[in-house]
Amino acid sequence: MYPRSFHYHRAKSLQEAAAMLAQLGDQAKLLAGGQSLIPLMKLRFANPAHLVDLNFIAGTSYIHSEAGVGEGGYSETGVSEGGVLRFGALTRHAEIENSALAATVPILHDCAAGIADVQIRNRGTIGGSLAEADPSGDWACVLSTLSTEVRCLGASSPERVIPLSEFILDAYTSALQPDELVSEVMVKIPVKGSGGAYLAFKRSAPVYPTASAAVQLTMEGDRCTDVAIALGCVGLTAIKAKDAEAALRGQTLNDKALAAAGEAASAAAEPQDDMRGSADYKRALVGALVKRAIAIAARRAHGEQVEVSHIYA
Ligand SMILES: Cc1cc2nc3c(=O)[nH]c(=O)nc-3n(C[C@H](O)[C@H](O)[C@H](O)COP(=O)(O)OP(=O)(O)OC[C@H]3O[C@@H](n4cnc5c(N)ncnc54)[C@H](O)[C@@H]3O)c2cc1C
Repeated sequence: MYPRSFHYHRAKSLQEAAAMLAQLGDQAKLLAGGQSLIPLMKLRFANPAHLVDLNFIAGTSYIHSEAGVGEGGYSETGVSEGGVLRFGALTRHAEIENSALAATVPILHDCAAGIADVQIRNRGTIGGSLAEADPSGDWACVLSTLSTEVRCLGASSPERVIPLSEFILDAYTSALQPDELVSEVMVKIPVKGSGGAYLAFKRSAPVYPTASAAVQLTMEGDRCTDVAIALGCVGLTAIKAKDAEAALRGQTLNDKALAAAGEAASAAAEPQDDMRGSADYKRALVGALVKRAIAIAARRAHGEQVEVSHIYA
């Protein structure tokens, strides 16, 4: 189906885009990669009268690293412990997938490389994904296991920096004000001895996962000293599996600890029956994904290069 007709506006700067949102009101929508918005418009679930295109604004697609305060400089990988990776809002999934800088935090590469297919990854953006707050979106799940902040720019308000945990409020609902947009996503580089992994179970590439698990942990020898676990597609937003984290923190990573974390993750999930599977099936699935992701994250924390890809039915 064709979308309803709309007025097209090409913004020259993020400030101008925010001003257009303020001026045009709730009939206006921002257009980034269009990989969520355009399908909704073609189905006529979204019928904006005005589209404000962000794609021609220079300097909105980048991946930079910045040394932490008081850090001595960059390591040979270009990142410094305590530093920050900065992603422009219009940075495409594919740019992150192909970035050596982003790959220094392997869970970011896992996420970017697994989103849908290459066509969608070439257009879809990290800023659009977080702004959409789709319960099945991969970025919100993965970034919630890292220390992530979202920079927001408004027409009428000062710039705000919002922790990701306060940015996504509910399914398809973010903390953005009507005249605000996402300008940048900032991710703190994990400390030495950390590793992460993101695994999703999918029926095929160009569909959202049935369930997914993101794990970021820190190891001292065999002992897990810190861990963050998030579950995707099994709730209205990504779920932080706090009991699963507690089952691992301070523990030696053996089969018993992994089983306890997997069980706690299954219990934390809030899935619904749908065409992707029953709620019971998804609960069992997400527990299994968490266990696998912990094992891979621990190997990476010990410096092993481990390639992962999503698991296909
Ligand atoms: C067939 C298909 C399969 C997909 N599979 C997956 C998948 O497996 N995993 C996954 O994570 N995603 C998947 N996606 C979605 C894809 O990742 C999108 O890129 C992403 O959800 C939205 O990013 P976008 O840049 O395309 O945003 P758009 O579609 O352009 O915009 C989405 C919404 O965000 C708003 N918006 C966009 N940019 C900003 C900004 N900077 N500030 C404020 N608001 C903004 C728009 O106004 C709109 O409301 C899939 C999409 C398709 C079509």
